[in-house]
This record gives sequence, C-alpha cells and structure tokens, in this order.
Amino acid sequence: MKIFCIGRNYVDHAKELGNQVPSEPLVFMKPPTALLKNNKDFYYPTFSKNIHFEVELVIKIKKNGRSIQQQFAGGYYDEIGLGIDFTARDIQEKAKEKGHPWEKAKAFDFSAVISDFIPLETSALESGIEFHLEKNGKEVQVGTSKDMLFNIDTLICHLSRYFTLQTGDLIYTGTPAGVGPIKIGDKLEGFLQKKSMFTCQIK
Ligand code: ZN
Repeated sequence: MKIFCIGRNYVDHAKELGNQVPSEPLVFMKPPTALLKNNKDFYYPTFSKNIHFEVELVIKIKKNGRSIQQQFAGGYYDEIGLGIDFTARDIQEKAKEKGHPWEKAKAFDFSAVISDFIPLETSALESGIEFHLEKNGKEVQVGTSKDMLFNIDTLICHLSRYFTLQTGDLIYTGTPAGVGPIKIGDKLEGFLQKKSMFTCQIK
C-alpha cells in the first residue's frame, strides 16, 4: 500500500510557514513503515530537535484505479480517518533551502499516526467535516474539510494521473494552521466531529 500526503492544502497553514499557496496539489509519500496505529506511543527520534505535529483528515482508497475523472472520484472512497503527519521541521527547513527531497523529514518510522476508519458520506465533505487536535488537553489545531484548497475528488483525480491508486492506499489531505512542536511527555488526542479518534503519547 501507498501513503500519499498533500502539503499546503489549507491556505492558513501555507501562510504560517511562509509558503506560497500552490497552484496544483503538492504531493509527497510515506512508506507503510511510517504508520503508527492503535494509539501506540511515539518515541522522539534522535535525528531531530524539532518534530512538529500536523493533524490531517485521511481518506482510504477502496478500489484500484488510474486516470480517474473527477466526476467518478467519489466511487473510490467511503471511509475517513484522522492522523498526524509528524514532521522533522529542522530537517525539512534544511532540505527546502537546498532544494533536496523531504523523505528524511517526513517519511521516517512512525511519522504517520493513524486512527481507525469510519464510514463517510461523500457529501459530508462538502458541507464540512470538522476535526481538531488537543495537546495535553488544550486545543492546538482546528480545521474543516470545507477549507481544503483542493478537495478530495480533485486530489484523487490528480494523484491517479501519476500513480495507480490501489485498495487500502491512504491520502493524508493536509493540515490546517496551528502546527507546533512536541516534546517528551506530551499527549496528543485527535477528534473528528468532536469524537475522540486517537491518542498518542510522546516518549
Ligand atoms: Zn502534512
């Protein structure tokens, strides 16, 4: 399976990091070894001093497809989850400066927290699926699917021009504003429509 991630898909977040708003989806990937499931602890890696949380809606692909037209994209997913795209911001900044790839900053082991998936009415995305992240019981990020620059159907259409989508592939759809650092001892908890979806203890 593949894990796609979308960068700068919320205008507020692109601006908070001083990035331009993209004219087409910014895509990167994580390997399956990045997944952190079942509320497991996250161990702060030794190679970074500035790991950031990014809470994101995650779509699971339910059938294979390539070059999917936008009007048929809704047939390729019916479940949604919530995750964190952990990012080694210090490594990413260096990579961006030099124009180097982002893998070491984004695709490292256990950098992709993922909740269980729940059924999704595709129309719900347009009216707005709300999600938020709490750090140590305090809300740090809040977002709604309505604010995505590129909606899910557009992402599926775009991704499938380049990559065959396969059953079980995941799409991390980007993070709203409010990203920030974690430290050992922190506890993160993600909520979808006010329902707790995951917890993650930083060790
Ligand atoms: Zn992200």
